[in-house]
Amino acid sequence: MRILSNVIAGSLRPARGGRTLDDIAPATGAVVATLPDSDARDVDDAVAAAQAALAGSWGRSTPDERADLCDAVADAIEADLDAFAEAESADTGKPIRLSRGIDIPRAVSNFRFFAGAVRHQETGCHEMAGALNYTLRRPLGVVGLITPWNLPLYLLSWKTAPALACGNAVVAKPSEITPQTATMLGEVLIRIGAPPGAFNLVHGTGPGAGQRLVEHPDVAAISFTGGTATGARVAAAAASTFKKLSLELGGKNAAIVFADCDFDRTVSEVVRTAFTNQGQICLCGSRILVERSLVARFTEAFVARVRALRCGDPMDPATDLGSLVSLAHRDKVDSYVALARREGGRVLTGGEALGGALAAGAFYAPTVLDGLAPTCRVSTEEIFGPVVVIHPFDTEDEAIAIANGTRYGLAATVWTNHLQRAHRVAAALDVGMVWVNTWLRRDLRVPFGGVKASGVGREGGDHSLSFFTHDKNVCVALDIGAGA
Ligand code: NAP
Repeated sequence: MRILSNVIAGSLRPARGGRTLDDIAPATGAVVATLPDSDARDVDDAVAAAQAALAGSWGRSTPDERADLCDAVADAIEADLDAFAEAESADTGKPIRLSRGIDIPRAVSNFRFFAGAVRHQETGCHEMAGALNYTLRRPLGVVGLITPWNLPLYLLSWKTAPALACGNAVVAKPSEITPQTATMLGEVLIRIGAPPGAFNLVHGTGPGAGQRLVEHPDVAAISFTGGTATGARVAAAAASTFKKLSLELGGKNAAIVFADCDFDRTVSEVVRTAFTNQGQICLCGSRILVERSLVARFTEAFVARVRALRCGDPMDPATDLGSLVSLAHRDKVDSYVALARREGGRVLTGGEALGGALAAGAFYAPTVLDGLAPTCRVSTEEIFGPVVVIHPFDTEDEAIAIANGTRYGLAATVWTNHLQRAHRVAAALDVGMVWVNTWLRRDLRVPFGGVKASGVGREGGDHSLSFFTHDKNVCVALDIGAGA
């Protein structure tokens, strides 16, 4: 069993209060590690260490030096990819194929991408009569990064890489239920010789550690990814100290399938949008809207594909679906299926926790429902698990209205071979991201984020560099002393 530590001022430390939490592997129920149950004192220590780093060599570092550091982090994670992937799958229950093929490689590319981005960053220059303006981009100072459990290192690196590349000092608070890879990242930064205090990690609960980070008067910005209700608490707590905020929150995304789609490809891709990572990706499509003339054929083929998914040991490379992140989350998912039954829905496949050899874990059968109104709770609230609802629609306008009919506005997919329709629907959807005939294809330069209750602000590419800096305009008079 591992004993995980905080990372403060370049050293591994237990919580000041000496308390620990258990890190449970959801696929087996075994305790795989303990982690510090930190409180405000640990957060205060981390913020002080970050401030000291900014006052020292880290505060004087150049973009090239910081880019080199990010590249070195990427190399170190890549060299240890299997260990990172195993820890990620143990903590989350996600298939090792995903951790090895997507989560950890993406953490590597996040560091490489932002190393390159900061090396090639340009700022503005505005000439005017008798003066020249130019823009300096300056780091914000100490920034707080708060991340969820579904993509632990993927999302922590998505924030840490630009924050460091821009010259900030970081205090990160990962989810208490998936703490291993964050600790490994902290150990990498120590090992490669990052200036002490440039990256600090405080483990613990949201109320115990996260809240203090958000309220801390010396933290200039919070980049938060998590649920909408928590995001509202974070926004309220940050308001009185005027922190810069980026909030990436929940979603209830629609996959809109038109009768003119490429049928076989659409069925298999929509299965992927629905059940990757057991449906626990904010971008998963959990409302599948299908043009009525296709709905019977689509539903039959879709359910057959879902029944063929292999659920089981996350460490088996053949596994398609591992376990959910915890028994508590599995029970929440199950409660929504019970609600669907009460709301008059039909369970076409799944609809129960998996037993037998998987009974000790948080496994849930991939579940397809239909017969529900698009306005019902199951179809409008975020379940964040392997449960999807199929709804028929008759017209393009109706599909758009159903898709836009939730409080969320994160992402959507559109499946059609009709060029004009694809563009029309994409433009009409009230979301931050639309994929047409594809899903989760990510160019790290593009804006990432949602509208409505799915968040505030954008991350990705220059949006991240802009979030983690402030722009300072310098205006230089050119018409004084002319001829002198
Ligand atoms: P969560 O419960 O909102 O937690 C997110 C993070 O916030 C965790 O580190 C949590 O700590 C911390 N936290 C909780 N209360 C806090 C408080 N009062 N002050 C400061 N921090 C606090 O979300 P989750 O259940 O981990 O993740 C699932 C959610 O994330 C889903 O809603 C999903 O849609 C969303 N998500 C969104 C995106 C996106 O890009 N839009 C991406 C991935 C996930 P503890 O867990 O340790 O208490």
